[in-house]
Amino acid sequence: MRFTEATASQLATLIAQGEVTRSEVLESFLERIVAVEESVAAFLTVTADHGRRLARLADKAAEGGATPTAGVPFALKDNIATQDIPTTCGSRILEGYRPPYSATVMQRLEAAGHILLGKTNCDEFAMGSSTENSGFHPTANPWDLRCVPGGSSGGSAAAVAAYEVPFALGSDTGGSIRQPASFCGVVGLKPTYGLVSRYGLVAFASSLDQIGPITRDVTDAALVLGAIAGPDPLDSTSARVKPPDYGQALVPDVDGLVAGIPRELFGEGVEPEVRQRVEEAAAVLAELGVGVEECSLPNAAFALDMYYVIAPAEASSNLARYDGTRYGYRAGAAAGGEDVGNGARASIGGGPPPGDLLSLYLSTRSQGFGPEVKRRIMLGAYVLSAGYYDAYYLKAQKARTLLRRDFEQAFGRYDFLISPTSPTVAFPIGERADDPLAMYMADLCTIPASLAGLPAISVPCGFSQGLPVGLQLMGPAFSEELLLRVAFAHEQRTDHHTKRPPLLGVKRH
Ligand code: GLN
Repeated sequence: MRFTEATASQLATLIAQGEVTRSEVLESFLERIVAVEESVAAFLTVTADHGRRLARLADKAAEGGATPTAGVPFALKDNIATQDIPTTCGSRILEGYRPPYSATVMQRLEAAGHILLGKTNCDEFAMGSSTENSGFHPTANPWDLRCVPGGSSGGSAAAVAAYEVPFALGSDTGGSIRQPASFCGVVGLKPTYGLVSRYGLVAFASSLDQIGPITRDVTDAALVLGAIAGPDPLDSTSARVKPPDYGQALVPDVDGLVAGIPRELFGEGVEPEVRQRVEEAAAVLAELGVGVEECSLPNAAFALDMYYVIAPAEASSNLARYDGTRYGYRAGAAAGGEDVGNGARASIGGGPPPGDLLSLYLSTRSQGFGPEVKRRIMLGAYVLSAGYYDAYYLKAQKARTLLRRDFEQAFGRYDFLISPTSPTVAFPIGERADDPLAMYMADLCTIPASLAGLPAISVPCGFSQGLPVGLQLMGPAFSEELLLRVAFAHEQRTDHHTKRPPLLGVKRH
């Protein structure tokens, strides 16, 4: 077996048994990156030197008899802070920014001995569903290079699907781990809000954001979740819940469970072949003894509307900090020149500095942010403004409570819920770029669990027109073990996760 085709847990075993060194594993992934990155463009930064140094040190330590560490390479979405390593959030406004500290998830993965291999492309500040909103370049879907990989964690999903890394982390505010996982035929898990620390995750919408794993199988999702979950004093919204051993959940025993299929997530807009694949997955679960029934989450029909009030409102507040005085880009500084703190350099503008502070703010933000981010900031500032707050923001929060109650009621009867992850398969690059509403529809099925803070996993469940289809499983708060068990049972009975993208190595058209 080539190392790049091994899963993270297989690699950890091979390394622990001394069958292969960390450096050998790392080099094989670096080779793979060189071979396919021109076509896929999943990365914004490849940390080859950093990785090589850590791998060498760990190999040496292991030779010297130290307790072996895992040594599996991984990638992080570029909105997760990495000390002294560029962290741009896919935005020109943070080009060249090197954070002075690392996110808790990064620290935990490195403490387990995993080795960072790079930072992945994403929609700017995680706003989008296709990775086309990146301020740098689009990423291609390894299954069809003409199509988007989904978003906003499209770089992470594409890197895993293209065998450039065995696993990556993404962030999910309204679907950004699950939807790209679905488009790229890999596994994506959004944990319960609060299970994984957000310390060092650059904020988009703080009441929704969660970090989670993108992997090639369910076993790796359990492995990675176990490494990053758990309380963190540095994140006040981190739950004081001791995570279980998720590996123990991996038994294909689901007999007697009852699942609901919410009709609101399975109606209009869901492509017929996507529907068919999800029905087939439900039939596989039924064969394994799961009772499957149609059910209803009445307020899920309004989830998109709630989300596009609440998320922009929070974003407009969170993004106020990018003003040219603290981080990243500053309008008017000589091109490639002025250091504006933490190593970031102004690199877009040039020309004389604006005359006063307000012009500095205005030009920095108008030059540094892309169109989707500006749209969200305007929308958010509007719904929070005096006179409109009650009509929009407060109303959306009330509706969010109703949606939460719908879920509570459903989980009184069902152990978990089933839906497609996305109503469609990956769409062609450019197709929805000028139609924000069409783009927002890509999150129809993922947003409800986000608004309710609930865990959900997307697993491959077949293909439509040669592109992967994702099955979404949603559960009550902190039911990750259950979701992993059901996903594992489904995976054991199917071979979708073993299929390889056909187009790799072919240049982007
Ligand atoms: N696509 C959704 C948005 O644009 C969700 C993004 C996310 O989960 N980060 O807001």
